Amino acid sequence: MNEARVRDEIAFACERMTARGWVANHDGNVSARVAPNRFVCTPTATAKALVRADALVITDGAGKQTGGRGKPFSEYTLHLGVYRARADVGAVVHAHPPYATALGVSGRELVSFLPEAVVSLGVRIPLVPLAAPGAPALAAMEPFFAKFDAVLVAGNGVFAWGDDVEQAWLRLELVEHLATIASHAAAWGGPQPLPQEMVEKLLEARRKAFPGRA
Ligand SMILES: [Zn+2]
Repeated sequence: MNEARVRDEIAFACERMTARGWVANHDGNVSARVAPNRFVCTPTATAKALVRADALVITDGAGKQTGGRGKPFSEYTLHLGVYRARADVGAVVHAHPPYATALGVSGRELVSFLPEAVVSLGVRIPLVPLAAPGAPALAAMEPFFAKFDAVLVAGNGVFAWGDDVEQAWLRLELVEHLATIASHAAAWGGPQPLPQEMVEKLLEARRKAFPGRA
């Protein structure tokens, strides 16, 4: 794992979420596992536009800071929960993209209506119920770690994870893209659900590509 490259990817993800208007104030955070017990994450209380590759926080797997500048963000316990549950995950990305966040705050999950997206993310991007920050938020999200790669969170935005920062980013991007299309389609009566037999075939392909996922 090339840490310099991972750091660049984190800074680039922060730049992109800023450019797209997916964060305001200090919203959003990104982390990556660069060695079994070494993680880098964005510093708390920092606008994502100002995150630099050489100014990230370094911690161990328990979240204890071992280097870098600034302090880890409070939602870091959620990121560490994903890493603990999923040995395959190398990065977690969180932002408040407006269409997907609008679904979550309305108490809605996202049910996939594009065949390609079913293979990438499954038939649904579930909604994590509203919970207070800290331990309750982690307890609410934990049941989704094993089988999903992206979740909407009530009262929050979207969390996505993957092998590396780029894959986690692409999943976040796909969730927002689907939510945007669903929102536009609502003007025409809403997206048509995919036929069940098609969904079964797509899920078969998904299970081959991503074993263990819903
Ligand atoms: Zn948030």
